[in-house]
Amino acid sequence: MSESAFSKLSLAEPLARAVAEMGYESMTPIQEQAIPVVLTGKDVMGAAQTGTGKTAAFSLPLLQRLLKHENSSTSPARHPVRALVLLPTRELADQVAQQVKLYAKHTNLRSAVVFGGMDMKPQTAELKRGVEVLVATPGRLLDHIEAKNCVLNQVEYVVLDEADRMLDIGFLPDLQRILSYLPKQRTTLLFSATFSPEIKRLANSYLNDPVTIEVSRPNTTASTVEQHFYSTPDDDKRRALRQIVRQRGLTQAFVFVNSKLGCARLARSLEREGLKTTALHGDKSQDERLKALDAFKKGEVDLLVATDVAARGLDIKDVPAVFNFDVPFNPEDYIHRIGRTGRAGASGLAVTLVSPGDQRLMGDLEKLLKRKIEIEPLEFDDERPRGRINDGRRAWRSEEDERPARFDERRREQRSGPASPPKDPFFDQPYETPQVQEPPAWEAGAKPASTRISANIKTKRKVAALFKSE
Ligand code: AMP
Repeated sequence: MSESAFSKLSLAEPLARAVAEMGYESMTPIQEQAIPVVLTGKDVMGAAQTGTGKTAAFSLPLLQRLLKHENSSTSPARHPVRALVLLPTRELADQVAQQVKLYAKHTNLRSAVVFGGMDMKPQTAELKRGVEVLVATPGRLLDHIEAKNCVLNQVEYVVLDEADRMLDIGFLPDLQRILSYLPKQRTTLLFSATFSPEIKRLANSYLNDPVTIEVSRPNTTASTVEQHFYSTPDDDKRRALRQIVRQRGLTQAFVFVNSKLGCARLARSLEREGLKTTALHGDKSQDERLKALDAFKKGEVDLLVATDVAARGLDIKDVPAVFNFDVPFNPEDYIHRIGRTGRAGASGLAVTLVSPGDQRLMGDLEKLLKRKIEIEPLEFDDERPRGRINDGRRAWRSEEDERPARFDERRREQRSGPASPPKDPFFDQPYETPQVQEPPAWEAGAKPASTRISANIKTKRKVAALFKSE
């Protein structure tokens, strides 16, 4: 039996079966460290990013501990909320809830998810039937508490996942209110990618003698990510992005921007320039966001332009590249952003476009990374049509090529108001799977993950520092 085999844990049969069906063989480092501790009922303060397997790290032992309450009664009173998992974004809540459902599928334990942007009624109906594990975003959970749709006085376990992001979004008052509804006697698990002083304060107030678990040193970036910082005036950033995508033969990338407005605008211009692009920001409806994400996961979209809030925690692994179109306002977001690439032992590319006005932000980033950052010049080559991303029909355009398009658009706007977003042939081109890298040891035997990575990216080291239990 391998050192990190799940069988070593003596999980109850229904949980072991679910794990086996997921195709997991060995535990990830966070699972190896956290599961035994959570099984003892101790509080945990975990430093781990999404993509490290932390959902299973807390859900499996929690489900195991909840099995004593398992029953097949139809009475809601027999299914009170026993475990509450709080997450900052709807997408993340949705992803975690889906995983919990899979792990619990052979038990009689019920789980549900509630998040904003969706009709409350179906959520209310589910809550009223009774659920043992409730996954929620703080705002919507408070709505349900106020509407008396759920009672939290029997909660035994609370998980604060992506806690740093919850604080960034301004969820602290909501969190404090929610925690005040819970019994004092409980186990609290807090996971965060970074440990700012605020997070430490939160932990000091709500955790009781926690066991600290770290699988990635806080405030460090994965060593398999090739990082470049290019000096690029604002006006040349789109051109720089197109050039790098083309030169590196990238099939997919995340493009991070600092504002919702910038996000929508950039996605529109890249789309006009022939790149299959979609935007992911907080102003999009839940449905639109899930669609955008889905299209990207399926490879129907090449570039996903996102704000930090919208992208945080998305379970998208092995994106070949991440672009910081804007240097992030909050240096810790740099770590979250580039954590999208080079995950699960694959190599990745992180490119930051630095404009002359970004000096202060770069200074903040250097402080966080504790190293001097070299900003490289970027030489533009002639980008007359020659390459393309997924789509054989559209060629790259240069800035000059783009002028008539903009002119046409202005004319259209004069005639009929703002131009409608260009029609995009989303679902009409199958995604070609690029070369697949060897999976890391803990994934061996797992069901095939979406390990798409460009053949043009050199692998640096097989296992990312992120995955080492340092
Ligand atoms: P998470 O960090 O919890 O979002 O998990 C990231 C991905 O890793 C999810 O798609 C999980 O299904 C997958 N995963 C979690 N644990 C394992 C494991 N032990 N072996 C293989 N895949 C895993």
